[in-house]
Amino acid sequence: MTERKEKIAIIGAGLGGAVAGALLQHSGFDVDVYEQAPSFSRLGAGIHMGPNVLKIFERFGVDKQVVAISSTPSHWFSRDGLTGDYLSRIPLDGYGATYCTVHRGDLQALQCDQLKPGTLHFGKKLVRIDDNGTDVMLEFEDGTSVRADIVIGADGINSKVRETLLGYEKPNYSGWVGHRALISAEKLKKFDLEFEDCVKWWGPDRHMMVYYTTGRRDEYYYVTGVPHPAWEFDSAFVESSREEMASEFEGYHPIIQALIESTDEVTKWPLFNRNPLPLWSRGRLVMLGDACHPMKPHMAQGAAMAIEDAAMLTRCLEETGISGYATAFKLYEVNRRDRATRVQTVSNANTFLLHQEDPSWVYGYDVYAQPLKSESAA
Ligand code: FAD
Repeated sequence: MTERKEKIAIIGAGLGGAVAGALLQHSGFDVDVYEQAPSFSRLGAGIHMGPNVLKIFERFGVDKQVVAISSTPSHWFSRDGLTGDYLSRIPLDGYGATYCTVHRGDLQALQCDQLKPGTLHFGKKLVRIDDNGTDVMLEFEDGTSVRADIVIGADGINSKVRETLLGYEKPNYSGWVGHRALISAEKLKKFDLEFEDCVKWWGPDRHMMVYYTTGRRDEYYYVTGVPHPAWEFDSAFVESSREEMASEFEGYHPIIQALIESTDEVTKWPLFNRNPLPLWSRGRLVMLGDACHPMKPHMAQGAAMAIEDAAMLTRCLEETGISGYATAFKLYEVNRRDRATRVQTVSNANTFLLHQEDPSWVYGYDVYAQPLKSESAA
């Protein structure tokens, strides 16, 4: 493929931005990625990557490496958090690619490694955007600036690109928090209990999702959804404790008690939301992932939607070239809005896979097999 000389700038090297960069570079575009963090560390969190995402990883040749660093559960079990009864047993094969659960930091590092050397710039916090119609100037907090022909805002729920397009608006606090903890599998050996590969424990008003985060199955991870009336902190997350977990899950199943007893460190994250945005792009600026459709994470598909967005946006830009960006951005929104909104709605409702159901509409989806709807379908 011939190299194109016009420049694409991506803001944010999170799970969506890094994949957008890798896919666009793979298609021959000239792309730089600007990330505010000075570097990425291996924070204590896992993530599901469904077959819908693995099909995209295959496109830029990283799928086998993702599988190699992941646990690959055969089923998603839903169980009653109090009695342990099985509410559903959902097979995770048969959707055209592997279902993975993985450490978020390992995945992010692998994704960033796919970017061409010298194109990922850390310590670049975007503070100002000027789209003058001909090109876009980006200013960073460190006083530097760059020019680009188009800009992709993959800068998460507090997106500066979203703010530029729609004005400042705080995200909505959902009234829920998620606790996250990684547990050494070694610690679980003393219990005469079976720790399943991928299981969601459901209570009347709270849940705990649990899975392995490595192919070696030496790290077990839980993430909760627990009601919490107000988020009173300024930071992205705060420390929680074994005692707090014990009180939140008092009376729950012995496996949950064993997990809490084995917890060394646990953090607590507020779950934020936004209502669907009136636009996904304007002029030379376009958004993807949490910048345009953040959701409560209960379907484990938030990053997946960011990555599907990245793949569809790349497809549309391949169709039009950068000079046809206005058409590409409209095509992209027409071909993504319904699916992203449906997933956002189901995820926020926290009902996915509670009962036996067919998840093909989520996992069987192949972004490359979708016929492109035309702009007029909007
Ligand atoms: P982000 O991953 O948030 O990345 C945005 C990036 O932009 C960050 O690196 C940030 O530093 C950078 N940035 C922000 N502002 C600027 C700026 N001004 N200048 C430069 N850089 C900037 N999703 C799943 O698919 N599966 C799961 O299992 C799952 N579990 C979750 C569990 C919890 C508790 C939570 C809270 C979320 C979970 N999600 C899950 C959702 C998922 O984390 C998000 O949907 C996903 O990270 C969105 O990706 P993104 O690339 O859009 O944004």
